[in-house]
Amino acid sequence: MKIKSVFDVSEIKSELESAGINPNFAYPIWKYVIRNPNCVWDEIPSLPSPAYSLLHSKFKPLTSSLHSLFHSTDGATSKLLIKLQSGALVEAVIMRYDTRLGKYRGNPRLGGLRSTLCISSQVGCKMGCKFCATGTMGFKNHLTSGEILEQLVHASRLSDIRNVVFMGMGEPLNNYSAVVDAVRVMTRPPFQLSPKRITISTVGVVHAISKLHNDLPGINLAVSLHAPVQDIRCQIMPAARAFPLEKLMDALRAFQKNSQQKIFIEYIMLDGVNDEEQHARQLGELLKTFEVVVNLIPFNPIGSSSQFRTSSEEKVSSFQRILRETYNIRTTIRKQMGQDISGACGQLVVNQPDSNKPPRSVELITDIEDLHL
Ligand code: SAH
Ligand code: SF4
Repeated sequence: MKIKSVFDVSEIKSELESAGINPNFAYPIWKYVIRNPNCVWDEIPSLPSPAYSLLHSKFKPLTSSLHSLFHSTDGATSKLLIKLQSGALVEAVIMRYDTRLGKYRGNPRLGGLRSTLCISSQVGCKMGCKFCATGTMGFKNHLTSGEILEQLVHASRLSDIRNVVFMGMGEPLNNYSAVVDAVRVMTRPPFQLSPKRITISTVGVVHAISKLHNDLPGINLAVSLHAPVQDIRCQIMPAARAFPLEKLMDALRAFQKNSQQKIFIEYIMLDGVNDEEQHARQLGELLKTFEVVVNLIPFNPIGSSSQFRTSSEEKVSSFQRILRETYNIRTTIRKQMGQDISGACGQLVVNQPDSNKPPRSVELITDIEDLHL
């Protein structure tokens, strides 16, 4: 029998309820598991007695395990390779920022060390973006809400996690109900993350964007736009055919109107494909009526067979200049972090744990992180 994750909110609550136990006993159970890595059910204090036998028969404190852990030499990035009950591996990446360093509006940042966790929502991904290692794996499995949350539990034991971004493996909006359940739990005790500190990144699943604000008010939305026009988007992201740019922009407009929040736009810079001056102008025109922050992402090659090349630094800066100066759009360039441990969400699993491929997406978090202040 498949053992259930105690963090699978619908499972634990319905099992407690059908055993005649108040489903709110899930909270002390979670709290205990988070604080006690070697948790034994019988040691959890003050549960109604039928709860112990229920936990023994159907649940495990964690259904996943930390398979391996890599730390970058500068200590800023740690990558967790997590083994699911099925044997599949997924990645989560912790980024640490010393907020005593650096400045914000001219003042030193306060608050000490804070961390952002990049988590996975699926094993593989069916969207097949041509520049993405996870895309080349195809879709293998959805993570349950418990498996999504267990990444946070593993990471919380290593670091004080203040922000969560769904930028690891998979398309979170293709696993909508599990992601929504997981985020809801994250925002309640014992995790208690502010929704403002959680970001869902999507390739642009239009129907899911349309309900996201209702289901998860306050959550941040990041959209992997990557091209300012439909035909380039289709060339590099097959999913763009199912979710045409015009429909996507309509959904984003509605999201912004309802949520009154800025939207993060991710734009991977591919040499000669989407990085010319005209593309910057088209992007500026497309976004000029939105409240957005554009994050330009230097493309990390995903193996020798990759058909794409990284744009030159000059091209990236002049792209940024056009967006900023002509269109007054806040535009950042993704910084590099965790390169020495291949801190790339998605790549390591594809290439086996000890492979040494260049990183992909963890750098983005620095930029998103800056905006969470
Ligand atoms: N499926 C979601 C979230 C996971 S991908 C999405 O696509 O938004 C997280 C980010 O990594 C996306 O912006 C994605 O476009 C980017 N990415 C994928 N492959 C990359 C590569 N080779 N180099 C740099 N960034 C990449
Ligand atoms: Fe899937 Fe995102 Fe990779 Fe595209 S970029 S294949 S949507 S994980």
